[in-house]
Amino acid sequence: MYIEEIKLKNFRNYNEEKFKLNKKINIIYGNNAQGKTNILEAIFVASLGKSFRTNNDKELINFNKKNSEVEIKYQKKDREGKINIKIENKKTFLINNIKVKKLSELLGNIYIVMFSPENINIIKNEPAKKRKFLNIMISQVRPMYAHLINQYNKVLEERNNYLKQIKLESKPIENLEIWDEQLYKYAVKIYEYRKLFIEKINKKIEKIHFEITKEQIKIKYITDVEEKEKYFEKIKKNREIDIKKGFSNIGVHRDNFEIFINGKEISKYGSQGQQRTSIISLKLAEAEVINDEVEEKPIILLDDFMSELDENRIRAFIKYINKNQVIITCTKKLDIEAKECNYFEIEEARIKK
Ligand code: ATP
Ligand code: MG
Repeated sequence: MYIEEIKLKNFRNYNEEKFKLNKKINIIYGNNAQGKTNILEAIFVASLGKSFRTNNDKELINFNKKNSEVEIKYQKKDREGKINIKIENKKTFLINNIKVKKLSELLGNIYIVMFSPENINIIKNEPAKKRKFLNIMISQVRPMYAHLINQYNKVLEERNNYLKQIKLESKPIENLEIWDEQLYKYAVKIYEYRKLFIEKINKKIEKIHFEITKEQIKIKYITDVEEKEKYFEKIKKNREIDIKKGFSNIGVHRDNFEIFINGKEISKYGSQGQQRTSIISLKLAEAEVINDEVEEKPIILLDDFMSELDENRIRAFIKYINKNQVIITCTKKLDIEAKECNYFEIEEARIKK
């Protein structure tokens, strides 16, 4: 699939601007703080319903304005589509002019794989980044999953509140049963999705990474839910500790995965170069998994592309994604030997003519 056109109105530092994109490669370049990443952010919001840098929608509205609008026209194999975002006190989405009622209706319209410099933290030991990686990928192809995550987080928050009440107000421990059962129910489903998608990623990444490096790569899912039958007992056994600490200590909200290169954990033993290359392999695998699931090539968003990767790695990357639409931001005009390539120079939220 590809995006044909993006219109921004009062979004971040933009007043009104329109981008007509190329099916293949689009390079958005310009100095720092001109509005390059803001364009990718708008696409991200249209795809996943929220920003990758904030949960506060107000931040998306231009400082001097009261509301903001984004319009994205895209083309899929068998149909065209349009997504409108209106941000005022809250966000509303329209797909082909019809108002979206649930987030799950929005998901699965625009497929993206985003790569930004801080993605390197997926490799380093930051489980939250790893869960985010999984959530972004799975939500797009299985909107039900996003719903489960929301439900799980709600129950988790309620349970955590109740844990504090047990500690401070001596509320009865037995009442935890209600939340434990729900937590268990959602956790097991989330676990199933994550397990399945890590398997899918493993099948893809092995080949991709071997081709680039001749090294063996493997991802191992680390979770408290491993043995489903014992997981409910585990939650119950952990109640005392949870009460003491005032929050839930086990569950899929602590899921993690570890990447192994030639049998060794990359977060511990990987060189900088190995870490950088494996993040590329991971993102390429993500793109292939999405493609297999939905039979559409996801749009690849590469933010600040030059800053973390050297030229050889960039070439390897571009070679792999030559069938996808790619939108790249960078500070220096990046010359890519490609026939189909649009350049946009951005200065103070305007395309420089
Ligand atoms: P870099 O090369 O440093 O990554 P960039 O071109 O990607 O820069 P963006 O992140 O797209 O920059 O835009 C940043 C600019 O947008 C900053 O100048 C910031 O102050 C401005 N900005 C962010 N939010 C708003 C807002 N709500 N209203 C107006 N301007 C905003
Ligand atoms: Mg930027």
